Amino acid sequence: MYSRWNAYSSYLKARYGEPVYRIGVDGGFSCPNRDRERHGGCAFCDGTGSIAVYQRSAESGYRRTAAYDAKRADTILPRLLSIREQIERGREFLGRRYGARLFSLSFQSWTNTYDSVDNLRRIYDEGLSAMPFREMIVSTRPDCVGEDVLALLESYISPDLDVWVEFGLQSASDGTLKAINRGHTVADYVDAVERAHDHHLKVATHAILGLPGEGREDFIRTARLIGDVGSEAVKVHNLHVAGGTLIASSYLAGDITVMSEERTLESTEIFLRHLRADVVVERLISETPYHRLLAPRVFPDKSKFLQHLERRMEEHGTRQGDQA
Ligand code: SF4
Repeated sequence: MYSRWNAYSSYLKARYGEPVYRIGVDGGFSCPNRDRERHGGCAFCDGTGSIAVYQRSAESGYRRTAAYDAKRADTILPRLLSIREQIERGREFLGRRYGARLFSLSFQSWTNTYDSVDNLRRIYDEGLSAMPFREMIVSTRPDCVGEDVLALLESYISPDLDVWVEFGLQSASDGTLKAINRGHTVADYVDAVERAHDHHLKVATHAILGLPGEGREDFIRTARLIGDVGSEAVKVHNLHVAGGTLIASSYLAGDITVMSEERTLESTEIFLRHLRADVVVERLISETPYHRLLAPRVFPDKSKFLQHLERRMEEHGTRQGDQA
């Protein structure tokens, strides 16, 4: 167990009395940042979305469109069927592998609020009716949560169910967001978090360490912003270059580099020290499947990296929030 940061596993045990396992579901959503007007998506996005290992067969099962429209209403039934199948597959896998008894339902692939409110309701309802969950987690973009969507998410909150919205921020620098083609601003993120909190939703924020042109001061600014807006949790990702992305071309041209393990440890320690101590740390390292990963190719696995980070922070006498 890690003692130098506020680890998610500790939070879950304290809140629910035992580990809670995420069932990651691909609801067949698309992404507004990948249409032509937005120039094809974030520079680091390989268009596969984020999907759990045991759901890979569902990854290729959807026909993605850049935008949703009324015509998509007739495609909702296969999506609903797939969600139920994915949940069953996730429960079976997590039960067999870890003896899991408590679960979260995580809509984690692409932009999980990018649809009509009617479709969203049907999709969320379908997932939640499959079995009891302790949490529902919906990953999305800060510019994709209208009041109607937030009100819908709020309607699911109950004494038995916490509802989280996960926002991709990546960096607290507008210059970086523009350079990586995020298609939203820092102000959009701040506004989205405030409105999510107005609807009593919990917020988790994604941040990337090692984006082109960023260094120590940028990591500190991002950590401080996440604390300042009161994001309840954070997922930190070291920059991964996946094949087929915009940054892959820059990487292959020698215009950008990725951080070594040593540099990532140093950056993560800086980030954690400037992150408010009560923010739950859900993740500290990226896990792109090796067959899609261009760089870094030489890097320890997640558990070794976390052990190295824990040891480093112990030796330095540092901990999350000691410079926040
Ligand atoms: S918002 Fe997410 S799915 Fe959309 S382009 Fe960016 S990383 Fe890809």
